[in-house]
Amino acid sequence: MNQLPNSIEARDVAFQLHSYMDARKHEENGPLVIEKGDGIFVEDNNGKRYIEGMAGLWSVAVGFGEKRLVEAAARQMEKLPYYHTFTGKTHGPSVELAEKLVAMAPVPMSKAYFTNSGSEANDTAIKLIWYRSNALGKPERKKIISRVRGYHGVTIASASLTGLPNNHRSFDLPIENILHTSSPHYRSMKKDGESEQDFAKRCAQDLEDMILAEGPETIAAFFAEPVMGAGGVVVPPEGYWEAVQPILKKYDILFVADEVICGFGRTGNMFGTETFKLEPDIMTLSKALSSSYLPMSALLVNEKVYGPVADESHKIGVWGHGYTASGHPVAAAVALENLKIIEERDLVGHVRDISPTFLKRLHALSEHPLAVESRGIGLIGAVELHHDEMSKTPGVLGARTNMAFHEGGLISRNMGDSMAFCPPLIISEKEVNDMFDIAEAGIETIS
Ligand code: PLP
Repeated sequence: MNQLPNSIEARDVAFQLHSYMDARKHEENGPLVIEKGDGIFVEDNNGKRYIEGMAGLWSVAVGFGEKRLVEAAARQMEKLPYYHTFTGKTHGPSVELAEKLVAMAPVPMSKAYFTNSGSEANDTAIKLIWYRSNALGKPERKKIISRVRGYHGVTIASASLTGLPNNHRSFDLPIENILHTSSPHYRSMKKDGESEQDFAKRCAQDLEDMILAEGPETIAAFFAEPVMGAGGVVVPPEGYWEAVQPILKKYDILFVADEVICGFGRTGNMFGTETFKLEPDIMTLSKALSSSYLPMSALLVNEKVYGPVADESHKIGVWGHGYTASGHPVAAAVALENLKIIEERDLVGHVRDISPTFLKRLHALSEHPLAVESRGIGLIGAVELHHDEMSKTPGVLGARTNMAFHEGGLISRNMGDSMAFCPPLIISEKEVNDMFDIAEAGIETIS
């Protein structure tokens, strides 16, 4: 690392606490300083270019340096840089975005509600669900089920939904009323000789057993990502959603599809809800909604959710919730332009066109002796490495592989020993091949 006291590296170490990082290790190693971006590439402060194989944090759908988003932000900044959406106030960009999202929804949705991050969207969904139970005169219906390995954010309630040890351990989480049912990862969770379909049925049975053990009248909602992302890119086993959804319907449990990663094209349809034929009551959206050029997230809620909330507010007290920046006009204007680009350039069709190449190259990585499995759909995937081959400690091999990818000019993300790939949706077929060429060479160097 650059040791000069005035360098950006030294000042970063001196003043910034980073997310998901061992702070003392960071003090030793220093940061990677990213200075600019263009298309699928970012460049560090030494002029080294990287393919951003994670689209930032699964989010920069239209790529870096998209001038139309810059111009949309500047236009809105000039006109109205800020206004809020509390107590009946509104402005054009938030109205237009709400209308657009309700129209885009693949299942009937009534209203959009704006928040600023995926965590806030899921946190807000929990509060809305609890408020609805109270509005319906069913205050006992407060429990929420999510899944082991699911990722839904880091605020106190959304981190509780998340089913990963780092988000609970040492934070005294999860909070009460949040339960986790089994992870649908076939390879690690299957019993000897169990088919994928039988495994999917067993996952659904686990869910039903939990509902019955807790008392169906106490369960308000089930939260799930159509494809698990940060839990290691877990594509659901065949028959999983077909088995899970009837159980939710049977016990009148609301279904929240966390589309924060899957939304806006990632799985080869506009929403993961379409890819897996889901019928959610609430969808939470973020990341590719604005390509993360500005923070923006949203919930879409159907009439079953909105109706009781609207009908009963005058009795149980107004929906006392909202953020200063909910529906921020500049973020909304950027999101609208971003959605326009996704539609005009048919990026969803593009994902479908290049997905076979992406998946072919991804699955080819799993032929390597260090690999145990690859999983993917659309333009999201992971290859899982066999950590026992190189280290007894999970995650060490993944971290080393990550370093090798960096050296080769590729930014990936290791979740334990699973290496994720989730590039900007604009990536070309040639660039997909370039990305996997670097990954293949990187794995070779650590073998
Ligand atoms: N939900 C999913 C599926 C996510 O992948 C993430 C973040 O990666 C979140 C929610 C939380 O979003 P944020 O980091 O914007 O709070």
